[in-house]
Amino acid sequence: MTIQISTHGDVLRHTGKRVVVAAGLTIVMTAASLVLCLGSDFSATVTVGYVAGFDLCIATVISASLSAALSYRSALLMKELSLTRSELARISQTDQLTSLFNRRGFDEAAALALTSARKLGVPVSVFLCDIDHFKSINDRFGHETGDKVLVEVADVLRQLAQKEGVLVARYGGEEFAGLLVGATRDQAEQYAEALRTACAAREIPIGETIERVTVSLGFTVSCADAELAELMRIADRALYAAKRRGRDRVVEADARVAA
Ligand code: GH3
Ligand code: MG
Ligand code: MG
Repeated sequence: MTIQISTHGDVLRHTGKRVVVAAGLTIVMTAASLVLCLGSDFSATVTVGYVAGFDLCIATVISASLSAALSYRSALLMKELSLTRSELARISQTDQLTSLFNRRGFDEAAALALTSARKLGVPVSVFLCDIDHFKSINDRFGHETGDKVLVEVADVLRQLAQKEGVLVARYGGEEFAGLLVGATRDQAEQYAEALRTACAAREIPIGETIERVTVSLGFTVSCADAELAELMRIADRALYAAKRRGRDRVVEADARVAA
């Protein structure tokens, strides 16, 4: 059931309807109870104790019914409020274009993942992945096509992330971030290489032609007590090195050396 209350008028109308329903119910219940208990002989005599007991009984039934109805109604409203809040939280953590986590969503989920890695005492790998020469895609084919390329690369990331259990996000512009808990250095490198080759292999239909894009990746593997911001800075330095060395490659930065 959806209750839409958005203006002061809605509140008044909603409350008015409930008052009318409650008053109507009270009148109907009282009349029905009177007829049921006392019969239709209006000249019959009744004792004072009987009337007092009857009053008490009616008042109890009505107040119990009303408070049950009000409790049910407020439980419905609370349920609706909690659904709205979780939907808002989901939207605020999601990138609208690719449906991956956005930077905020990544930071929040990564903080939780780091906490659990700390408890388990396992390493954490952080990746930064940037599309090469993306600006030229926009310049040659237009911004809309650029968006389409972002969606395709995000799809490659999502598929591989689901397989490998990696947290991925669109970190900003044409840059994506990933976090993997519990992998060795070699496993992290294999994942980064797999991502690089999968992106390069993805055929992206643009008009009559098929385009391909490459990505550069920087990553670092650290013991779990490192801070996320520091790991991101180190991965970013590795990404920058990958760009400098010619793009379409994976570069690792050693967290112990860089820290
Ligand atoms: P490099 O290989 O050094 O990374 O070069 P690049 O061209 O990929 O990087 P650069 O930083 O020069 O350009 C990034 C471009 O990404 C510029 C910006 O307009 C574009 N961009 C950022 N966000 C979006 C977006 O949401 N949609 C589209 N279509 N373009 C975007
Ligand atoms: Mg780029
Ligand atoms: Mg960039």
